[in-house]
Amino acid sequence: MAVPQHRTSKTRKRLRRTHYKLSIPGMVECPQCHEQKLSHRVCPNCGTYKKRQVLERA
Ligand SMILES: [Zn+2]
Repeated sequence: MAVPQHRTSKTRKRLRRTHYKLSIPGMVECPQCHEQKLSHRVCPNCGTYKKRQVLERA
């Protein structure tokens, strides 16, 4: 079994883990109301997708 020659220090371990980040979902501007929305999703603000009204306005 392979055994590490040196113990990884707290600093090295933590430095390595600074690259572990949450990825931000793809946000785009809605062409209808110019709000930020998720790409390939119906806009939750105005309820349109591909310039078509798909949700009823409350
Ligand atoms: Zn919108």
